[in-house]
Amino acid sequence: MKYVLVSGGVISGVGKGIIASSTGLLLKTTGLNVTYIKIDPYMNIDAGTMSPIEHGEVYVLDDGGEVDLDLGSSERYLGVTLTREHNITTGKIYQHVIERERRGDYLGKTVQIVPHLTNAIQDWIERVAQIPVNENQVKPDVCVIELGGTVGDIENAPFIHAMTQLQRRVGKGNFLQIHVSHVPVIPPGPQGEQKTKPTQRAVSDSRREGLNPDLIACRCEIPLEASTIQKVANMCQVDVDQVIAVHNVSTTYRVPLLLENQKLLSTIGRLFQLDSIPRNPTLVSQGKLIWKEWVELATSQDHVYETVSIALVGKYTTLHDAYMSVGKSLEHAALHCRKKLNLIWVDASNLEEDTKGTKLVDYHKAWHDVCTANGILVPGGFGDRGTEGMIKAINYARTKNVPYLGICLGMQLAVIEYARSVCGVSGAGSEELQPQCENKVVVNMPELDKDKLGGTMRLGKRQTIFQPGTEWSRFRALYGDLPEIWERHRHRYEVNPAMIDSIEKADGGLSFVGKDEKGERMEIIEVRDHPWFVGVQFHPEYLSRVLSPSKTYLGFFAAAAGMLEPITKEYSGRKDLSYYAGNEDFAGQAS
Ligand code: GLN
Repeated sequence: MKYVLVSGGVISGVGKGIIASSTGLLLKTTGLNVTYIKIDPYMNIDAGTMSPIEHGEVYVLDDGGEVDLDLGSSERYLGVTLTREHNITTGKIYQHVIERERRGDYLGKTVQIVPHLTNAIQDWIERVAQIPVNENQVKPDVCVIELGGTVGDIENAPFIHAMTQLQRRVGKGNFLQIHVSHVPVIPPGPQGEQKTKPTQRAVSDSRREGLNPDLIACRCEIPLEASTIQKVANMCQVDVDQVIAVHNVSTTYRVPLLLENQKLLSTIGRLFQLDSIPRNPTLVSQGKLIWKEWVELATSQDHVYETVSIALVGKYTTLHDAYMSVGKSLEHAALHCRKKLNLIWVDASNLEEDTKGTKLVDYHKAWHDVCTANGILVPGGFGDRGTEGMIKAINYARTKNVPYLGICLGMQLAVIEYARSVCGVSGAGSEELQPQCENKVVVNMPELDKDKLGGTMRLGKRQTIFQPGTEWSRFRALYGDLPEIWERHRHRYEVNPAMIDSIEKADGGLSFVGKDEKGERMEIIEVRDHPWFVGVQFHPEYLSRVLSPSKTYLGFFAAAAGMLEPITKEYSGRKDLSYYAGNEDFAGQAS
């Protein structure tokens, strides 16, 4: 097993995750099985209880793990399926050691950060790195470890220490560090000077802690000058080819191309003796095909001028990372429809009439954005702020024939809107949002633990079965003749099973197209005589991949672009691109 540690210096948030995922992708295109572990030095056990406004979205895995959004980037780039164990947090690792201490595993010893916690971190990494993450169920060859935060943080210290020991444990030629730093331009702009001092400091900080970076990735707003690269090499005593320049590019999908142009693969190959790893010829030709398709998609946007605007009507619009996977899924759909995505962020409370202090100008701007969009999307969310505004936007989409996609909360609100406007149910609401409402169209799921917040929702990958009599569905058409689909979930409430019949009997054309395996839980709604009005209780954005877009998002986007028919024809027969997930039954067609 080979380990690539991607660490950060100077400041966080400069794209370490994308560099880690892009490096993993490049390795995968050579036929290697690549896995990924993210270390988050915070005390939370997982990201499940963290506010999306503070930390970005909570990403959900097949096994129901609620994890850091960087696991999303790596799943999307690498086409792998990770588990909750692939995200290590300070909380999780302390809990693990403390549980062992209570069990008496340490035989009377004083339990310390070094060596007990640092050993536990290494054992955890070595164990989890072996877990197969591809459909072929083969043990990975390379594990990319992304360390959150920056080297030198107090929170990071035990993990850094563990890494210095891990490199010794796994031996020379099996451990490589890419240190990501920032090169500011002062004053900002093309005429400014590219400053290397923060990078020099970051590298010496890392060395002081016992980690000597093999590669230094310099993030910069503009392309790095040759003299800057030379200076970093001189001052940090490395070869020029160990300095990787990563400037801002039009789309993050271009980052793997940028790295490959600098011969990253051959540098890693040399340092790692990658040639010594035996390759499966099928994976090698699949890798070539993946790279060919990736390059095509990543560069295709350069020649695309037609724009499709999507209004994302949400609650956490001040931090775009809060809807990271939704945005990425729309990008994937746009790439595959060969259109440009114009994502418009609408704060749902601004759509409400002025009872809560909305300024008139914000109100009109928000409605202008909704009314001029080609498609309207209401994503998942919690709590009642902005939900009446969302219901108004949904009503607009339904009655004005504008393509609509409701995710989780966005589906629950679509049912409430329909119950109020079409079925005439007075006081229709949700137990979560209006606990005292007259008619609860959305209710708490009875089996869930109401007293604890962490990890107690209906989580992870679950089955949805298409219902008889819904063969007309535009949504279904995209899935060809599949009788069922599997998607990831994260919710505590559901459409009230007692109201299903009366809702379906109303004459507005809304049907429950998909239900769970027992037929009790509503998973997909769709309005029949409408270009695209779909709500899903699950989160298809967690399974959308760059080369294999979510069909739910693809259908919605295609409808907004006025090209649902050709896209349905093109994609309906296409099962998931299983070679991307490492299915060896697929013989790659690459030359
Ligand atoms: N708050 C809603 C629920 O818990 C919706 C959750 C979501 O959108 N992820 O059911």
